[in-house]
Amino acid sequence: MLSGWREATARRPWRISAKLLIISSVVTVIGFSAICVNVMLDMRRGEEALARQTLENLATTIEADISRNVEIYDLSLKAVASNMLLPEIATVSRPIRQLILFDHATTAKHFGAIQVFDADGGLTIDASTLDPVPENRADEEYFRVHRDNPNAGLFISRPMLFRGAYAIVLSRRVSDQDGGFMGVVAGSIRFSYFHELFERLSLDPEDTITVLKRDRTIMMRRPFDLDVIGRNLGDRSNWKPEILKEARSYAGQGPVDATPRLYVRSTSITTPLYVVAGKPLSAVFALWQREAYRIGAVVLALILFVLASTLVLAREISRRADAESRLEEMATTDALTGLRNRRKFDQVIDTEWRRAARQKSEVALLMIDADHFKAYNDTFGHQAGDQLLVGIAICISDSVRRAGDCAARYGGEEFAVLLPNTSAADAFKIAETIRAKVLGWSDGGAGSTVSCGIASLAPTSGIDWSVLVAAADKALYAAKAGGRNQSVVASLPKLSLVA
Ligand code: GH3
Ligand code: MG
Ligand code: MG
Repeated sequence: MLSGWREATARRPWRISAKLLIISSVVTVIGFSAICVNVMLDMRRGEEALARQTLENLATTIEADISRNVEIYDLSLKAVASNMLLPEIATVSRPIRQLILFDHATTAKHFGAIQVFDADGGLTIDASTLDPVPENRADEEYFRVHRDNPNAGLFISRPMLFRGAYAIVLSRRVSDQDGGFMGVVAGSIRFSYFHELFERLSLDPEDTITVLKRDRTIMMRRPFDLDVIGRNLGDRSNWKPEILKEARSYAGQGPVDATPRLYVRSTSITTPLYVVAGKPLSAVFALWQREAYRIGAVVLALILFVLASTLVLAREISRRADAESRLEEMATTDALTGLRNRRKFDQVIDTEWRRAARQKSEVALLMIDADHFKAYNDTFGHQAGDQLLVGIAICISDSVRRAGDCAARYGGEEFAVLLPNTSAADAFKIAETIRAKVLGWSDGGAGSTVSCGIASLAPTSGIDWSVLVAAADKALYAAKAGGRNQSVVASLPKLSLVA
């Protein structure tokens, strides 16, 4: 039984404590949560990258279509501007002049008829008619730009009402051989072109396509809003060129409405117009958000389950630990006196003996025995005898207060007090204190004194603690023999007795 108990105490350090269980559960939960959050963020980044790629492709495709049409139209303008210089133009008939100047590209759907204005802004030639109605465009921006700047090249106007329809006007300067200003050749691309282009794409209602000029004027936007068209974004801090650099994106509020979107710009840098495609962030992350809520809910439920079971287990563990320590307390305590019992005493003396051997210090032992206890029992009864034992135990524990000291009921009416690191002289003082206390407490009544044997020994190799017990016991017998109610120190190592 003793060996079983020792085995149990030896195993104890490996037992999981409630605290350790809670800590490990919390660490596990934090670890799993961190992994989960990381995976979710990765998924979010993936969704964003996919949306960015899709928007970039969309913007680039739209830009390519617009650029191709602008280029085709510009080629026609260039042809008109250079053919105007042919000396024959002035001499040929009007129908022949039309044929020389205008190719069929300009008659394509959505393209407005090309017009030629002279140096004063007066309309001279119109691709759509042989007899144009006189009009003057000297005040138009595109006219002034070409008049004042010989190197304006292809000028794309702000969106404007042109011949009854919203359009952007493309124009080129007509210069003579010396670069002198001869007029302007202008044509238009109607908004219907953009409407038709955007309608061909499958877009969500909240998706936006914005066509911008290099000076950041909005030329066209889907969803269409006339108030937005022509607005210059020069003062907008977001959507700045450095934010919306090539193939770069911007997530947040756009220049028109409050809906936060992912905006991606087309990749080309050479075209006069560029495209920004936008998709609401709520749509970009809709799928991810659903997944995140679902996984988050499952993980949260698991975390709550783990934490709840941990708490239940921890409570159970601490309840058991309490019960075990109570059991251990009971198993090591003498029921009558509350002192340590013999079993515990044997364990403590073994430990202390080995510690003293390591530290080369002394261990003192008091063996205390009630005098004439049999007679006391016989006179006052067993219960009174028990009370006397309790009284002696109180006197002992009152006198032995140092940590590491161990007072135990050794058996019957015999007590043992182990005093580590104590010399025989100090142990004798403690023994005398106990003896005096018992004497004082019992008022010197019959049989209510104690005798005490004292031994103190520094363990050396080969000497067992039983030597110390035997020495103290021998001293106790000497005290009895000497007349009882006295303390006797065993003289060691010779173990001769000194009163
Ligand atoms: P001495 O002075 O030589 O020690 O004489 P003594 O009578 O005290 O010693 P002895 O060994 O002859 O008797 C011890 C008695 O203690 C015998 C036993 O009845 C009694 N005793 C032992 N344990 C208990 C106990 O738990 N309660 C009570 N009331 N008596 C006990
Ligand atoms: Mg006795
Ligand atoms: Mg005895």
